[in-house]
Amino acid sequence: MRKPKIVILGAGYGGMITTVRLQKMLSVSEAEITLVNNNSYHYQTTWLHENAAGTLHHDKTRLEIKDVIDSSKVNFVQDTVVEIKSAEKRVILHNGELEYDYLVVGLGFESETFGIKGLKEHAFSIANINGARQIRDHIEYMFSLYPTQKRDELLTVVVGGAGFTGIEFLAELANRVPELVAEYDVPREKVRIICVEAAPTVLPGFDPELVEYAVKFLEKRGVEFRIGTAIKEATEEGIIVAKGEEVEEIKAATVVWAAGVRGNALVEQSGFEAMRGRIKVDEYMRAPGHDDVFIVGDAALIFNPENDRPYPPTAQIAIQEGYTIAQNIAVMVRGKGEMKKFVFDNKGSVCSLGHDDGIGVVMGRKIVGWQAAFMKKVIDNRYLFLLGGPLLVLKKGKLKFF
Ligand code: FAD
Repeated sequence: MRKPKIVILGAGYGGMITTVRLQKMLSVSEAEITLVNNNSYHYQTTWLHENAAGTLHHDKTRLEIKDVIDSSKVNFVQDTVVEIKSAEKRVILHNGELEYDYLVVGLGFESETFGIKGLKEHAFSIANINGARQIRDHIEYMFSLYPTQKRDELLTVVVGGAGFTGIEFLAELANRVPELVAEYDVPREKVRIICVEAAPTVLPGFDPELVEYAVKFLEKRGVEFRIGTAIKEATEEGIIVAKGEEVEEIKAATVVWAAGVRGNALVEQSGFEAMRGRIKVDEYMRAPGHDDVFIVGDAALIFNPENDRPYPPTAQIAIQEGYTIAQNIAVMVRGKGEMKKFVFDNKGSVCSLGHDDGIGVVMGRKIVGWQAAFMKKVIDNRYLFLLGGPLLVLKKGKLKFF
């Protein structure tokens, strides 16, 4: 009998967990599992802000996919997905194509610039390893030019967005400034780090007491906030912002856009009905009208029944979805058992403020300082454990036990 083909697109949090769960649950005689990803490595997005600020080398954030999956059970294809032809149950890759019986789409997120003029051309985004590496290299290069060119904008970094990503990056960068100043012989007082946020508060929706802690932490380290201020345009010289009627140009050699993400555009381009690249899935994590297509991670849109608003896209929810999807595919492959409905178990969130500080709400309890920083590393270690067991924790974990 022909074995069903399971194809997983994207080796992000959702794709990786789905793959390792399926490789555990199904034997090679039951199904053929293929994982497709454009890079040979999986990266932990939750540490990219450190790579971008230059406080953590990107090799500590990524792991080779072949070191995590069991190659005797999973066929890994390094290629770029170009299109999903769901009517024909085929996936078109840059260098070939694949047929599937069950498909898992986990192609993740991309930066959303909301049509703001010049952002795509003149701003960086912390979306993947390449983006993070470019930011680090660019900032260092700008600092290295200052002693000869003495242009103040070379030492100005603007961050658009005071959500989790923006705040975590600002904290890392602010912590690195003393080292950059010493390395490139630049005057500390000339370095400016400016955060521009259109909403009326930093970390919108987060506990006000914790927000105050984060703002004080960053202001103490020299970060300037422009709250209730929108970026209107990015140019070669910097950005143009507006607060009400007041318009201002801020000259800056580095602009990092951290204010918006959307699901991968390829999902819409392949004909799935989506809202900003996110597909509203059914209770079993399938795309509506496609019983053989599961959606995982940032590409999936799920509404919180308590407030009828979408759950924010996070690694936490992507991991939990991966578990449900693997179980449901195993049920479909075997033709017996009961499919599981997805229910999100929100364990809270932590926003780091540099290596040893942070804020968070975990299991309903507010935490700040080293406890929050510690918790972020615990969460990370737990993920590595789920992915590759204790050996992966020892190899890649940020929290060392000895
Ligand atoms: P992703 O992790 O986005 O991975 C998608 C994969 O698909 C990648 O490997 C990519 O290379 C691959 N891919 C994309 N396009 C193609 C293609 N065409 N062909 C082949 N492969 C392709 N969440 C938290 O829960 N906690 C945090 O602390 C946290 N911090 C964050 C910090 C930053 C700086 C950022 C940017 C995000 C953070 N998030 C956090 C959000 C979290 O990282 C995302 O929600 C999560 O990465 C989504 O996982 P995913 O499985 O959808 O895919």
